[in-house]
Amino acid sequence: MANGRRLFLALWPDPAVREALARTAGQAHLACHGRPVAPEHLHLTLAFLGRVHDARLASLVALTEAFPCPAEAFSLDRFGYFPRGGVLWLGSQAPTPRLTTLHHRLWQALACEGLSPPERTFLPHVTLLRHAVPPAPGALPGIALNWHYTQLRLIESVITEEGPRYEGLATSASA
Ligand code: ATP
Ligand code: MG
Repeated sequence: MANGRRLFLALWPDPAVREALARTAGQAHLACHGRPVAPEHLHLTLAFLGRVHDARLASLVALTEAFPCPAEAFSLDRFGYFPRGGVLWLGSQAPTPRLTTLHHRLWQALACEGLSPPERTFLPHVTLLRHAVPPAPGALPGIALNWHYTQLRLIESVITEEGPRYEGLATSASA
């Protein structure tokens, strides 16, 4: 699919949450090294679509713009580590039923476009570092960050020689 685009839908932080996330990534970097995600790239993926043919782009933009995103919040208060890729991430200790419902509703809408959800259970997280070493016990600071969101975005991940660059293609409606 030579002319396809790599797409995903994500919660995009407002400037205050972005700054707090970037600060946290800086603290995590001291403990776990690796490469911090650029502040302007910090996000929480709700649906990774992979490569999608250009012919489907207009309907995905329309779907995103029509999608009623509720105004809600969740707490980011737990670090995690994926050995694959050395990903150090920030997530929630407690279950996040509102995010799970949002994820489910989004995939219901995407199913109407013929897209299928992943089989893996949704684990909401913000990637802070890549190629990091696993955190030593007690090495990471305590954190409690409240993220209020009101919209989600359709993003294109453009592969460049310097790594991916994210470009916003559409923003959801407020519910
Ligand atoms: P890179 O892969 O070059 O390190 P990246 O992961 O930031 O960069 P993408 O691979 O385009 O960029 O991914 C965009 C978003 O989608 C990221 O949040 C990523 O974690 C998520 N993602 C990527 N692949 C998958 C997948 N197979 N399943 C679920 N989410 C994915
Ligand atoms: Mg990736």
